[in-house]
Amino acid sequence: MPVLVPDYHVHTEWSWDAPRGDMERSCERALEIGLPAIAFTEHADWALVHKGQHSVDIAGYFEAVERCRAKFKNLKIQTGVELGEPHWYPSETADVLSAGPLDRVLGSIHCVRLGGDMLDASQFRSHEGLDFLSAVREYFRETLAMVESGQPFETLAHLDYPKRYWREGVAPYREQDYEEPIRAILAAAARTGRVLEVNTTRGNTLCPDLRVVRWWREAGGQAVSFGSDAHQPDRVAAGFEVAVQMVESAGFKPSPEPTALWRR
Ligand SMILES: [Zn+2]
Ligand SMILES: [Zn+2]
Repeated sequence: MPVLVPDYHVHTEWSWDAPRGDMERSCERALEIGLPAIAFTEHADWALVHKGQHSVDIAGYFEAVERCRAKFKNLKIQTGVELGEPHWYPSETADVLSAGPLDRVLGSIHCVRLGGDMLDASQFRSHEGLDFLSAVREYFRETLAMVESGQPFETLAHLDYPKRYWREGVAPYREQDYEEPIRAILAAAARTGRVLEVNTTRGNTLCPDLRVVRWWREAGGQAVSFGSDAHQPDRVAAGFEVAVQMVESAGFKPSPEPTALWRR
């Protein structure tokens, strides 16, 4: 069965953490599998907690997109950016967003501040002395702060990102254990007209899964987008078959326009 949903969360060589990223080959891959559209949403990060981490060279990125659009005329290529903690960096965010037309603007929390340290959720499990479950609660608190901040992003990306990096030896992640903070985030996102992303984390797991997408509908959420978060061409749209079924069963439908978002 061909995958017919656009992938609106893809990284390329223009993201600091995608050494195997390749915009041209990602376009080839998208055409090969029949995607109606692809958006390259590079990391715009200013909370620098990893070695070699830096924000996007947005001018170079736009030139690369133009080269791909000229080369792959049959593919709808959208521009985009994944803002990390935009509410902490409003002027940097405004600069990136004013650099050119961006079709897809994702808002993401990767980092939280804990006891004077700034930590990415991928670092929670190995950070000595850290109360892991409190850190996860802090992650959701920060996500709510971002959604309520008024920063101009359209899509709330990977709402439950810490589950990708769950610590061994603690009880497994369950959406219902975080129902209250997640519902608060969803209510704020619905109120502000945001889109909820279902992130397939390169084909590994759904972020978020069915229960949360149902809560999204209950909260009045209108739209869902799909993102693989691929960091290399062969992961584009990975996991989309399962995601599409899940989102459909949560009560969202494809639009007749194949590049549009799914709506309730
Ligand atoms: Zn992310
Ligand atoms: Zn990403």
